[in-house]
Amino acid sequence: MLSHEFFHEQAHIEKRHELKRRILLITICSLLILNSQLSILNSLPIFNSQLPILNFLPIFNSQLSTLNSQLLSTFTLAILYRLFCHSQEFEADRIAAKKCGKNAAIESLKLLQMREGKTNFFANLFSLHPRAEKRIAAL
Ligand SMILES: [Zn+2]
Repeated sequence: MLSHEFFHEQAHIEKRHELKRRILLITICSLLILNSQLSILNSLPIFNSQLPILNFLPIFNSQLSTLNSQLLSTFTLAILYRLFCHSQEFEADRIAAKKCGKNAAIESLKLLQMREGKTNFFANLFSLHPRAEKRIAAL
């Protein structure tokens, strides 16, 4: 009998999750590079801060220095990327649970939970996989 892990990975492939992650990552990196280039150009006297810095977080851009604004934008995009990855993991879990059964999925994730142990706050903050307990709760 095939396991939850097998169906989980199969779901990632069928849903083209890796391709979608790469497209999102390239888009995020392009936005950040464009933003930093505009920022550098703005520092030149000829442009005199007239070029529009990407303003997807206007409150940061109006209140903080350009560097701090860019750091917060980068951090925010990293968190959005993390949420996107987590949503893919939950989707793969749901698809796998339909194929192998919810109980088998939960048992498999409980084994994973035992292997995970404790992680610190920052390791968890930037992890691209949700904790097993969240994955079990989402099923
Ligand atoms: Zn996965």
